[in-house]
Amino acid sequence: MTSADDLADRVCDGDLRIHELEDHADHDTAATARRLVIERKTGVSLETIGEYAFPAETAEANIENMIGATQIPLGVVGPVAVNRNSQPSSETADAAASGEYYLPLATTEGALLASVNRGLSVIDAAGGASARVTKSGMTRAPVFRVEGVADAAETVEWVGENVTALRDAAESTTSHGELLGIEPYVVGDSVYLRFAYDTKDAMGMNMATIATAEACEVVERETPASLVALSGNLCSDKKPAAINAVEGRGRSVTADVCIPGDLVEDRLHTTPEAIVEANTRKNLTGSAKAGALGFNAHAANVVAAAFLATGQDEAQVVEGANTITTMDTRDGDLYAAVSLASLEVGTVGGGTRLPAQAEALEVLGLRGGGDPPGTNADALAEVIAVATLAGELSLLGALSSRHLASAHEDLGR
Ligand code: NAP
Repeated sequence: MTSADDLADRVCDGDLRIHELEDHADHDTAATARRLVIERKTGVSLETIGEYAFPAETAEANIENMIGATQIPLGVVGPVAVNRNSQPSSETADAAASGEYYLPLATTEGALLASVNRGLSVIDAAGGASARVTKSGMTRAPVFRVEGVADAAETVEWVGENVTALRDAAESTTSHGELLGIEPYVVGDSVYLRFAYDTKDAMGMNMATIATAEACEVVERETPASLVALSGNLCSDKKPAAINAVEGRGRSVTADVCIPGDLVEDRLHTTPEAIVEANTRKNLTGSAKAGALGFNAHAANVVAAAFLATGQDEAQVVEGANTITTMDTRDGDLYAAVSLASLEVGTVGGGTRLPAQAEALEVLGLRGGGDPPGTNADALAEVIAVATLAGELSLLGALSSRHLASAHEDLGR
């Protein structure tokens, strides 16, 4: 067996390329050799990066040129009280999560978990939140070239009349994915077909891409359209886009809670009216003036920390920020809700397979496929939505209590 030192020598001598190391050694030795190369070239010690607690081979599908692992502090918040009185069900209208959950969160932002936990304790004391996934569909939108408008119209018409054939082609590539629909868009001589899939417990981006590639072959065979790119950016993946905020992508999930007025005063040291005003002027009016897609205080904070902890695709935090926070007073109580239009989560595949991330999903009781399929990912979306609601309540509470404090000072009482 070649040693890591020998392999590093060969890379430094130009005899081997850095991405070829796994062809000559096991994955951990290859990672060690790569670290040695980088240490020699940069003079930086990679001792901490080299201290990882999983076999490098388990990350083969998740990273190339591995040298180690970045450790992000991991904490936990909870209980996340969600749909306490509901029975888990596969029906879209019913809840997938029910009871109390402990949600692992990974972050480097001090105070985040304390803030979310404060909001969760208020939600808990109020009897828990409700959460529902109201729409689900992972999208992929290839772009085709046509000669002109007449061919574009012909293509769109053919697609509309042949969804069954396209479904057969797409679903031949997956035993879980189901094609929900295809939305066509025409821009001059470009035709975009936005395919949407029920991807069950997978976030589904690979699944949807592979399925769509198969369907595209049928489109090319039967219409004047010629495929330019399997993703035409109308999907829209990992970029701020109104289409996701409006139409949804992944899971559209909403969580709400009604908090008694005295609880708001005791725990958040403010009033329902002050929180509602802060929400309206900051999250709604301020965001509108800023031309934002997300009308919230810091939804991405919770989404990002939950994504890192549970092995989600961290770049899709972009879509997770498409969240609207609404607040109202109801007979002296505070009604609060968050609606995450495009939360892209899975409990199988991708980074969920990695040991630490899999353990985090185990803590939630949501690792792997749900019974029936899709319910675990729905439940994860609901739990994240409630934690996001808690984060909004806590931050708005802090902002409005400060306002109240200064108002009291101004008023001399
Ligand atoms: P994946 O790891 O590629 O596939 C998950 C597979 O798990 C499914 O295809 C399915 O196989 C199987 N499966 C088993 N039990 C399942 C269940 N209960 N529900 C659903 N599927 C189940 O994961 P993915 O979610 O499709 O894609 C996520 C990965 O894609 C991430 O690593 C992400 O970073 C990456 N990504 C890819 C693209 C791209 O364009 N390709 C873009 C962004 C991100 P069957 O299909 O055979 O049923």
